[in-house]
Amino acid sequence: MDGPDFDLVVAGAGGGLVAALRAAELGAHVLVVDADEYFQRGNNTSMCTAMIPAAGTRWQRAAGVEDSPDRFLADIDRKTGGTADHRLARALAESSGRLVTWLADAQELDLELVTDFRYPGHSADRCHTIPGRHGSRLLRHLVERARAHPGIELIAPMTLREAHTTGGRISGVEIATPDGNAEHLTTPAVLLATNGFGADSDLVRRWIPEIADAHYHGGRFSRGDALRIGRGLGADTGYLDAYQGHAALSSRSQTLIGWATVVHGGVIVNSEGRRFAPETTGYSEFAAILAAQPGGTGWIVIDEHIEALCSVFDDFRTVAESGSLVRATTAAELAERIGVPAETLDDELAAAGRAATGAEPDRQGRTDDRHAVTAPYIAIAVTPALFHTQGGLVVDEHARVLAGGSPVPGLYASGGAAIGISGHGAGGYLAGNGLITALGLAYLAAEHVTSPVTA
Ligand SMILES: Cc1cc2nc3c(=O)[nH]c(=O)nc-3n(C[C@H](O)[C@H](O)[C@H](O)COP(=O)(O)OP(=O)(O)OC[C@H]3O[C@@H](n4cnc5c(N)ncnc54)[C@H](O)[C@@H]3O)c2cc1C
Repeated sequence: MDGPDFDLVVAGAGGGLVAALRAAELGAHVLVVDADEYFQRGNNTSMCTAMIPAAGTRWQRAAGVEDSPDRFLADIDRKTGGTADHRLARALAESSGRLVTWLADAQELDLELVTDFRYPGHSADRCHTIPGRHGSRLLRHLVERARAHPGIELIAPMTLREAHTTGGRISGVEIATPDGNAEHLTTPAVLLATNGFGADSDLVRRWIPEIADAHYHGGRFSRGDALRIGRGLGADTGYLDAYQGHAALSSRSQTLIGWATVVHGGVIVNSEGRRFAPETTGYSEFAAILAAQPGGTGWIVIDEHIEALCSVFDDFRTVAESGSLVRATTAAELAERIGVPAETLDDELAAAGRAATGAEPDRQGRTDDRHAVTAPYIAIAVTPALFHTQGGLVVDEHARVLAGGSPVPGLYASGGAAIGISGHGAGGYLAGNGLITALGLAYLAAEHVTSPVTA
């Protein structure tokens, strides 16, 4: 009898490519389909800052950073108030070191540890990234590796429409071109790596109304396909209210300015020139806080010292080159240039500066040890945004999709298609929770698909 057309079909060429590469390395014949012709420039992995958290790695040891999966897990627990799926969080924390080591050694990705700043919520330097710190470089590398591998076929644009079961197990898929030409293929395993539902405004309004009016800054094919396909097979869903927001998207260039601006000492004022919350709570939850301010927008205020530190990010340089940086030698001049009351802005910046040097308590309760922003000032207009949703199909520690609590044999989900490890709402999102679930669950799925027990 002939075997299946493919050992694994991966829907979604973002983090899903990790599954294809790992499974192919372990001997599987893999098909990857992506609905978006321009996925290399359009999906979330291509848009991201390429920060991959991992604990207990050789990069950390070389830098003298003490870390462990348990410590990573404790940070996730603290950020989510213990509401994240613990089994999943543990599996991802424990495999994170293996993942980045494999990306560097087997996939020849040029990884480095970020030690120049730390995102809120991480108790150790554990974000690993690539030069330029941009997802388009990460994705391009994975695509090139996949295209060069004889065990992987990558087709785009091609949409996964349905996954079929026979006797309760995955047995095939229906894929289709944009003009509707459908094809049926046999396979015992499908990975749904199609991201979440951020691009479907009705679904966002239904599940996450607090961010429904904010700008959506994510892949346009994040339409909730995994939810639809999974539910059709009886899959369980969870954490549908969870999301990654961001409060540092440039209003003018629609490019991420980056939270490093804040971590390095920057402050955020609203359209009336007032600070309104401790910026270091986290960029994700700050999106809804900013959205609730008058006019729903604000300004990040930094100085030239911070500007220099942030220029290691491709995205920050893009923002700068777009002409979005408003410069001024005094607070009064800055106020005039950005259209806020001079007295208020001057008072806020002076007070924030005194708080940064420890001369007085911070008005917003910010407690980080930080650089005091000083003149000449730079302001960048920010708009709150939804980056991606963090809820989806319930998966176990092997990325297997569950239905009624039991795995659907052969059905896997990763990244935004699956539940994340961010608990509920926006506040549990720890920097890196997007890629660790996208790359990490894809990696775990590939290992399960190819393990002798399941083969
Ligand atoms: C500006 C920005 C910065 C970010 N920075 C970081 C960061 O530094 N670290 C971090 O951890 N996270 C970050 N994130 C979040 C991170 O980008 C995402 O969580 C992650 O990339 C999601 O990966 P994914 O594989 O689930 O989805 P994607 O990368 O979006 O890939 C999904 C793919 O599936 C395709 N698709 C959809 N439906 C179908 C279908 N039916 N059939 C076939 N294909 C389909 C889409 O076209 C898409 O290409 C950031 C996000 C943004 C927007």
